[in-house]
Amino acid sequence: MIKLHDKYFKPFISAAQIDDALARMADEIASDIGDEVPVFVGILNGSFMVVSDFVKKYPKPCEVTFIKLASYEGVKSTEDIQRLIGLTQDLSGRTVVILEDIIDTGNTLAEVHRIFKNENVKALKIATLFYKPEAYKKDFKLHYVGIEIPNKFIVGYGLDYDGLGRNLPEVYQIKETQHMTNLV
Ligand code: 5GP
Repeated sequence: MIKLHDKYFKPFISAAQIDDALARMADEIASDIGDEVPVFVGILNGSFMVVSDFVKKYPKPCEVTFIKLASYEGVKSTEDIQRLIGLTQDLSGRTVVILEDIIDTGNTLAEVHRIFKNENVKALKIATLFYKPEAYKKDFKLHYVGIEIPNKFIVGYGLDYDGLGRNLPEVYQIKETQHMTNLV
């Protein structure tokens, strides 16, 4: 068990399980895409470990880039308008594979779709290492999913709790509060 800030987390998914899931995804994507050279696009910050380990397993030539979504400054906080940082490359006619660390509600994915609608890509595929089916509220197809997990908060392997935990090589799940009642 580990403690980050005020919360406790228990071991949940090992580095070996992550490795297996990424290897399976890399083989599946490579066999679907064939000899075309895909552009893998990581969504920062969380996806940096996924992308780094995934592309080492990808058995064919590929390109790799990162983007970051950031809320516009100066708009009302209730408006969830995002802008994109880092997409400088012309992706028209290319097969783009978005590499996500985790898909939860799907809100981030909706923004990614909105942004890529205008890029004239040949195909937009979505790959995510972790997926919370109980939390997902959108209809966008998830083409490649590594590991389905319950709707509980996780940290590690790029994912943080208030800035901490991204460097952990495995994944931890939040520990439910223990209610200590009637202890006499
Ligand atoms: P979504 O837009 O699909 O709801 O979630 C997008 C983002 O929320 C993810 O990229 C990630 O940054 C964050 N997120 C969702 N679930 C978790 C979780 O269980 N743990 C952590 N650390 N971040 C999460």
